[in-house]
Amino acid sequence: MEDIYCQQIIPGILKVEIVFETDLVMAFHHTKPYWERHVVIIPKQHIESLSSYVGTNELNNDLFEAIQVVTKLFEDKYGGCRISSNVGSYQTSKHLHWYVHQGKRLVKEEDGARH
Ligand SMILES: [Zn+2]
Repeated sequence: MEDIYCQQIIPGILKVEIVFETDLVMAFHHTKPYWERHVVIIPKQHIESLSSYVGTNELNNDLFEAIQVVTKLFEDKYGGCRISSNVGSYQTSKHLHWYVHQGKRLVKEEDGARH
C-alpha cells in the first residue's frame, strides 16, 4: 500500500522543507500544495488514522506542540488557517496526517485532492 510518509518522507528520500520537527513528529511544506500555503503534520511512527490512534504522552505532547507551532505561524503571518485530517475512505494515504492550510485552493477536490 502506498504510504508516502513511511516510504519516502520520513526516511528522507523525498526532500521536504521542514517547518517543525521533534524525534516523534514532523511538520513540513506539502510538496504539491492544494492550497496557497499548505503544511503537513505527521507522527514519525506509522499510525493509520485518528480513529485508530493510541498515543503515548510524549507523542500527544509533540503532536499538539507541532499543531500549536504551525497554526501560530499561520495566524501570525496570514491572520488564520484551517486544520484538517481525513479518516477511512477519505484517506488516500493511510498514515495519520493533518493539513494546516490557508489561502486559495489550487487543486480541485475531484482531482484526487481528498487525501
Ligand atoms: Zn506510515
